[in-house]
Amino acid sequence: MPTETIFQKILKHEVPSEVVYEDDGALAFMDIVPNARGHVLVIPKGETGENLTDTDETAMAPVWRAVHHIAPRIIEAVEAAGFNVIMNNGHAAGQRVFSPHVHIVPRFDGDGLEPWPKIERSVEEIAADAVIIRAALKE
Ligand code: 5GP
Repeated sequence: MPTETIFQKILKHEVPSEVVYEDDGALAFMDIVPNARGHVLVIPKGETGENLTDTDETAMAPVWRAVHHIAPRIIEAVEAAGFNVIMNNGHAAGQRVFSPHVHIVPRFDGDGLEPWPKIERSVEEIAADAVIIRAALKE
């Protein structure tokens, strides 16, 4: 049995959190080290693995539904101009808590949060990547 993550403990109310929304399938609470004012995390209540790769879509569906419902309202509440919805999957992607979770990060004009840098990839290389990905998606 793997060690419980902090989010699993939050779900069981064993660790305190600032819950802002809850329904049958999802719980949303404030990120304790936010990237922006109003940064909220949304987690599934059902059985999960570590991230999107090993979690059933039926467990994640309530999370996406909750994000759709609450993100515009959070943005209005903190008077943001937009928001990012982010899910880090795997250590290389910046995942640090290994339970699936989706970030809602409010964005403010001129907030200085830089987007990811672009990489150099030729049209031919992109086409070759597409071939590999299409083949993988047919498996
Ligand atoms: P990750 O990098 O795994 O996608 O994001 C984990 C997020 O969880 C981070 O933004 C971090 O600030 C937040 N976090 C880590 N520990 C806690 C905690 O104990 N409580 C809350 N509310 N957020 C946490």
